[in-house]
Amino acid sequence: MNLADKIKEGLPAELVNFLVTAGGVAETCGDGLYLVGGVVRDLLLGRQNLDLDLVVEGDTKSFAGGLAGLLSAKLVAHPRFGTARLRWDDWSADIATARSETYARPGALPAVKPGNIQTDLFRRDFTINAMAIELSAPRYGELIDRFGGLADLERKSIRILHERSFIDDATRIWRAIRYEQRLDFKIEPRTLELLKQGILMLDTVSGDRVRHELELVLKEPLPEKALRRAAELGVLAKIHPSLKGDNWLTERFVRARQLTAPEPPALALYVALLTCRLTADEAERLLGYLRFPNTVTRILEDVANIKVELDILTDRSLTPSGIYTLLDGYHPTALQAIMLAMEVPLARERIEEYLDKLRHIRTALTGADLARMGITGGHIKEVLNSLRNARLDGKIKSREDEVRWVEEKRE
Ligand code: ATP
Repeated sequence: MNLADKIKEGLPAELVNFLVTAGGVAETCGDGLYLVGGVVRDLLLGRQNLDLDLVVEGDTKSFAGGLAGLLSAKLVAHPRFGTARLRWDDWSADIATARSETYARPGALPAVKPGNIQTDLFRRDFTINAMAIELSAPRYGELIDRFGGLADLERKSIRILHERSFIDDATRIWRAIRYEQRLDFKIEPRTLELLKQGILMLDTVSGDRVRHELELVLKEPLPEKALRRAAELGVLAKIHPSLKGDNWLTERFVRARQLTAPEPPALALYVALLTCRLTADEAERLLGYLRFPNTVTRILEDVANIKVELDILTDRSLTPSGIYTLLDGYHPTALQAIMLAMEVPLARERIEEYLDKLRHIRTALTGADLARMGITGGHIKEVLNSLRNARLDGKIKSREDEVRWVEEKRE
């Protein structure tokens, strides 16, 4: 089957030209060159995907070097890993030397050695991701499909390549769920059976690798679908037994997208919603295991601290300056998460008021103005705060009001 026309239809002209040029260079060098992975799957499905992954049977650095010269592209090579990235104009492509992998023990990273396209495809996760398209000139566009990937695309099936797949690498459990839910496919029955048996093997995988898979799930357009499926299979509970992928979470994720549209929600907002029903101890254990980047961790800690203050937030006598004082200093994403999670309308409205209005209110007078008015250094911050509070509560509205207020206080 030749996919040259599909490549032309599915990719922008710049990338098609790149593939043709790369194929020409490969032919000259006598190297095999293949387009592999997700982009092949998506070309066959007619889904947009511009992430070009190329595999070369030969030395990546010298092949990519030759290609970079022809395209005036920037080349970043990692010879130790046999990989390289080319960047030109607004485009990029990843190139790797064909390899074979063996797993010394479950969950460990594989031992890697140079191989050919067959071994390179055999190390992959699912049949639909284990197809390649030849790029080397005479065979340009030919589909290589050793494991029945095309038939599985037609059947809408997620299938592993061999029975030990989930034992070798249990992160594939998360990947199976992610593709199944993204593409509206079904995990094929034997694969599902092995996936269920493999769930225990998630204990062999480091928290860092599990976090990476969770982050990929949360980058999906509808992450709640995969989280629901992961919960149903007992996979989410492996991250923490108290995590839930239920209707409550789905509703919050939908609202989070409405809140941040047209941008997708920040990763931290989704993580905060996923974890905000954990107790403080549970959240701490989860953070220790998954080791999110500092900004995400800080936001999750803020969520935990705001939760402790929620009673005050629903106190009817709370003034705008009281809301400000209570919420000032917390990360806006943490406040968004609490707002989305809250059942009590008054608390929700108050956080919204803080995020949309109160936190942007500034005094007209600056510290320098106050110094000129004779307020001594040690008191400037305090006076600015009380001015801002008076403004928040509507007691003063203009610069003149502020000047009068300061003068009255000084007397
Ligand atoms: P996406 O569409 O989500 O970007 P992708 O298919 O491009 O997915 P990547 O995570 O970029 O996926 O990985 C590229 C390819 O590498 C995959 O298509 C798959 O063939 C292979 N791969 C990635 N992770 C694994 C894994 N854990 N085990 C086996 N093969 C993997």
